[in-house]
Amino acid sequence: MSDAQPGDPATPTEAPHAWRPARFMVIAAHPDDADFGPAATAARWIDEGSQGWLVCCTSGDAGADDPNTDPLELAALREREQRDAAAVIGYAGLTFLHQPDGALANDLVLREHLVREIRTFRPDAVFATDPEVLFHGDGGVNHTDHRAAGMAAVDAVYPAARNAMAFPWLARDGLEPHRVRRLYLFWSNAPTARVDVSATIGRKIGALRAHASQIRHPETLEQHIRAWAAEEGAAIGAAAGEAYRVIVIDEDSDETTVEPPKEPSPEGELE
Ligand SMILES: [Zn+2]
Repeated sequence: MSDAQPGDPATPTEAPHAWRPARFMVIAAHPDDADFGPAATAARWIDEGSQGWLVCCTSGDAGADDPNTDPLELAALREREQRDAAAVIGYAGLTFLHQPDGALANDLVLREHLVREIRTFRPDAVFATDPEVLFHGDGGVNHTDHRAAGMAAVDAVYPAARNAMAFPWLARDGLEPHRVRRLYLFWSNAPTARVDVSATIGRKIGALRAHASQIRHPETLEQHIRAWAAEEGAAIGAAAGEAYRVIVIDEDSDETTVEPPKEPSPEGELE
């Protein structure tokens, strides 16, 4: 043990991420993205008292190989699969925005939908796909919907959700502006934090199994997920980890501590 070197997989190189929001929202392009993404972190935070809400921009109506597939039937199936997966993780609820799969656009329609969701649930932190990822290293292309959903989430969080003059009819109808304090960007090429998910990695695998229409090789899925999580966990000395690029928009006095669960404070101040 004494001859372990930095870089040795058994030697932690950073501290596990410790901050936890009282309320968080996951914004995903497709059913199953949240479960391949931050599911184990979401499950852990919910177990520790956080409230989580999932927003799926599309219902995955293009997620099949047969061009004769009925997209409406596929969307209904995938929404059922996502609801089952969300129950495994423990979300307080989920919303489908019914935008077109494969044609998701970061336009004002999507942004207004997301601002409405954010102002309704009032999360302290939002998970989204890192919109700056076009390629995964040199080993793959990031789906256009993942890029669009990530950029739309960022634009909805800042400045639109906190700006009373963005979609002013929302505030007039009682959806007060809301300040999201942090972004947790997943599938990033530049992660800055890792959460210890050793206790909840099994829930992530359980949630992924609910997406039966999308899982071609369920027998090898668990193996892959555990191997990826072990890789991220090694950096923090944990059996399993999930990695994020964390953007702190509003720095607070509690940045380095884990707060007990609390209700969101009524906010609405202007920029
Ligand atoms: Zn996806």
